[in-house]
Amino acid sequence: MQLSYSQKSFHKNKVIAHRGAWKSNNHPQNTLASLRQAVALGCEGSEFDVWMTADGILVVNHDSDFMGMPIETTNFKELLTKNHENGEKLSSIEEYLAEGKKQKGTKLIFEIKPSKISISRSEEVAEKSVLAVKKMKAQKWVDYITFSYEGGLKVIMSDPKANVAYLTGDKTPAELKEAGFFGFDYNIGMLRKNPHWIKEAKDLGLTVNAWTVNQEEDMRWLLEMGADFITTDEPELLLSIVQK
Ligand code: MG
Repeated sequence: MQLSYSQKSFHKNKVIAHRGAWKSNNHPQNTLASLRQAVALGCEGSEFDVWMTADGILVVNHDSDFMGMPIETTNFKELLTKNHENGEKLSSIEEYLAEGKKQKGTKLIFEIKPSKISISRSEEVAEKSVLAVKKMKAQKWVDYITFSYEGGLKVIMSDPKANVAYLTGDKTPAELKEAGFFGFDYNIGMLRKNPHWIKEAKDLGLTVNAWTVNQEEDMRWLLEMGADFITTDEPELLLSIVQK
């Protein structure tokens, strides 16, 4: 097994809240409120998405724009002129990690969004992400995921102990293992078509995660197949299935 950061106190229930736990309480996605709710539910992980502003600040948001402002070409200060629907400002990565570090049960699943500008900007985001996590001493909490293969490689190079899972679904488990990835986090439809990838990954010691799994039938199938994590908009449903 590769060296990796870990902390024994994390919940072991495979439940990863997608963009935090937002649905039941109507929290905006990717806010501190949705992160706190995932923590309150006792999820093993809470996922969030990271972009870089025009002036090089890492921020947490799903879409490439925030309230109509394109994040990659807007300065952070400008982005702070609007709020999430619950009144929260757009979080910097430091604010988000600081909130996550207040507890030790829920991991922080850090998605590095591929830049729409260039691959080299995706690599820059990846390097800056690793630096931010180190600066915040949050390595034990953070697992990375990304659709950017190059960004993922950059994280692995910048911190060989980091856990990095790949999202796109265009690499075989053997290719991911060879490149130093920790696992895959593939679309549920793709895994339904290629169930052999799950066994292959497990045989190679890679972790298996899937997105975005909201149907009970798919949850049960993944549990039977031995998935390590399941990423869902319905963490309460998945928790009820896992805890039975
Ligand atoms: Mg995401």
